[in-house]
This record gives sequence, C-alpha cells and structure tokens, in this order.
Amino acid sequence: MAGTEPEERTAPVSPASVELPQGGTVHAVVRWGTDVMHRPARPVTAYDEELRTLVADMFATMYAADGVGLAACQIGVDRAVFVYDCPDESGTLHRGIVCNPVVELPEGRARRLDDSDEGCLSYPGAFVECARPDWARVRGQGLDGEDVVYEGDGLLARCLQHETDHTQGTVFGDRLNDRARKKLRKQMEAAAEDYPRGWPVGAGSARRSASGPGGTAIDVDHVDL
Ligand SMILES: [Zn+2]
Repeated sequence: MAGTEPEERTAPVSPASVELPQGGTVHAVVRWGTDVMHRPARPVTAYDEELRTLVADMFATMYAADGVGLAACQIGVDRAVFVYDCPDESGTLHRGIVCNPVVELPEGRARRLDDSDEGCLSYPGAFVECARPDWARVRGQGLDGEDVVYEGDGLLARCLQHETDHTQGTVFGDRLNDRARKKLRKQMEAAAEDYPRGWPVGAGSARRSASGPGGTAIDVDHVDL
C-alpha cells in the first residue's frame, strides 16, 4: 500500500514481530494485469531454503518500494505467502511472514468499516478510499511451517486483508466501484514517470535507507501494500 503525505516517525515494534531473513535481492514489482496476480496462488508446502530466499527477496523489494506489505505474486512468484512491516492504529510496528493465509473478520455489531485510502505497489502512485473492516486476524504458517496468528487494527488490519487478497488473486481494484477505479487509474497514469518499468530495482529506499531493513522510520499516511 502507498501513502500521500509521507510523515517520518519513530515507532515502537511489537514483541510479536519476527526475525526477518536478510540479504534478499530487490525484484521488479509485477503490475496488475499480469496473470500471476489474478489467480489463486499455489500453497506453500515446503519450508526450505528456497522459501527463505523468496521471503528475503520479498522483504528487500518491499523496503526498496517503501511498502508496508508485499505478496509473492508481486515479484512474479506463484506462492501463497506475504510479508509485512506495518503500523497498527497506535503506531506500533508489526513485522511478519504468513504462508497460506486465512483471514478472519468481525461480524455483526463488531463489524465496523474503515474507508481510509488504500494503494498497491503493483498499481503505484495511486490511492483511493476502500472500505474494509477496521480489524482483522490472519492465520497461517511461519517460515519453519509453525502455525502463526496475527491480528490488529488501523493500517495493519487493512494490510493483512490486502495481502491475503493478493494470495487469492484479488487486487483492491476488484473491490472498488467503476468511479473509484477510474480515479485510481488516472492517478496511476499521472504518476507513471515516477515508476518506470523495473521499479524499484535501483531505486533505493528514501524512507528506510537511514535505518535499513528492520528500521523504524516509516511513512504512516500513505503506504503501498
Ligand atoms: Zn497490493
């Protein structure tokens, strides 16, 4: 996801955050319209070196693109796994890896919609309001195949839903009406020069370079998922 008015801040990190695999390679972010983004991803079944390398590459790419979440299909890999480094409503940062995610959302009276702006690294430079439940829980497996459960509110709730959608072949444009989708397209086209083919390879990270991956300086207003 991406934000419109970047704001630097230092945030505490959730103790539930996991150790991130380091040394990944930055890949070009795959755009909407590419087949791998629009069909359900194959489940993760092997928790091996290949998966660690994939996840390290995903984190490297997410940080280079100044995103707060990234799914494997966004670097062209057909596997149901996503990574995130994202603040919740209180500003606390949460970092995690989820293979084969299944999302749980509030129902009945507990279901409240948050219509904040949303953006996607695979449709860069564009943000529109997208109504989603303001809380989410995701279950899946971690890097070693262990069961993991993550939950949260604010941007984190949006991120967990957005990334799980990616593993199922859904992009947030699919959740918008025609008018909002048109607005999103106009913004993306207007910003196209800033996101050349191959982005973010070679782009570096304006936001996180000071502290590197695992750093705590982030934009909270407009973030790409
Ligand atoms: Zn996305």
